[in-house]
Amino acid sequence: MAARARAAGVPVIGDIELFAQARTSLPPHKVVGITGTNGKSTTTALVHHILKTAGVPTTMGGNIGLPILAQDPLPAGGVYVLELSSYQIDLTFSLDCDVAMLLNVTPDHLDRYESFGAYAASKARLFEMQRAGQHAYAGRENGVISKVAEDWGAIPIDVDELDAELFGEQSEWPALQGPHNKKNAAAARIAAFMTGLVSFHDIREALRTYPGLPHRMERVAERDGILFVNDSKATNPDSTAPALVAYPDVHWIVGGLAKTKDLGPCAEQLGHVRAAYTIGESGPMFAHLLAGKVPVTQSIVLDRAVRDAAGAAKPGEVVLLSPACASFDQFRDYEQRGQAFREAVEALP
Ligand code: ADP
Repeated sequence: MAARARAAGVPVIGDIELFAQARTSLPPHKVVGITGTNGKSTTTALVHHILKTAGVPTTMGGNIGLPILAQDPLPAGGVYVLELSSYQIDLTFSLDCDVAMLLNVTPDHLDRYESFGAYAASKARLFEMQRAGQHAYAGRENGVISKVAEDWGAIPIDVDELDAELFGEQSEWPALQGPHNKKNAAAARIAAFMTGLVSFHDIREALRTYPGLPHRMERVAERDGILFVNDSKATNPDSTAPALVAYPDVHWIVGGLAKTKDLGPCAEQLGHVRAAYTIGESGPMFAHLLAGKVPVTQSIVLDRAVRDAAGAAKPGEVVLLSPACASFDQFRDYEQRGQAFREAVEALP
């Protein structure tokens, strides 16, 4: 359908482009746009929370929350914080963000793009649409910033650095555990600060009070000293690896519809894994990949995996659903999978 429209010369645009075109009729406002392969929702929700903490009128939209066009306009001085997937950027042509942030780019969704370069370039269009004087940032990891971001002149930010004296220690932020969330916090604080509307004090306070998002390292329950964590949103090994790092003794529920044929960066984190419980279509593949490295139980379905893991875990240990896979083999989406995890935990004897 979209291809036919394009062939006929009819422009194909998305709701973010409609929002961009409507901006001139809105009260004066700012837009913060956040993209990247991983951490978009967390960073978007955190920027929104920092602004709210500072008393700034704000709302979030795009790939998160209610569609932006379904929301009431903000009063003058408000900030729209938009989470933008590469799909959405592809259908957007005139959104000039006051602050644009590319968090990271790792291979994902490659089915939709000709190459990794094309995928990265699609994300960098967020910078291409900006005007002079607007702020462009890109995360730098291991000293490397995405080439496309560099080409567009985005300022590299060191996502591994966040001054503890100014912003407090990560241990004070219950909903932002794990090395990945430290990076998201570092990115969010820069994006929020560059709106010019928040103070360091607001940021410090907001990091402490951020409530977290469902299905992202969400603490579901603590039973008999065992913590149950729902990280159903982690649908590739790059997303799961930092969740494994976040806890020292993990009973790991993994599997679903695999996006990769290997453990990716999870392979380096198996020292944190006391045992693994495989589920879904890729269960046998993960059992094979993990055999001989950690004890593996082929649980096949999620509620059995929860029972198996809960039976084996000791007080102080963590049962973590961080499947490193899409959910569509056994569930409608990652939300339904996370909900099934929660119900399985609640149903434990
Ligand atoms: P997105 O909206 O980009 O999918 P989320 O904030 O919803 O990102 O997080 C999804 C999952 O990705 C999390 O459960 C976590 O395991 C992983 N993740 C979050 N932030 C990062 C990051 N900065 N780097 C790598 N992985 C991350």
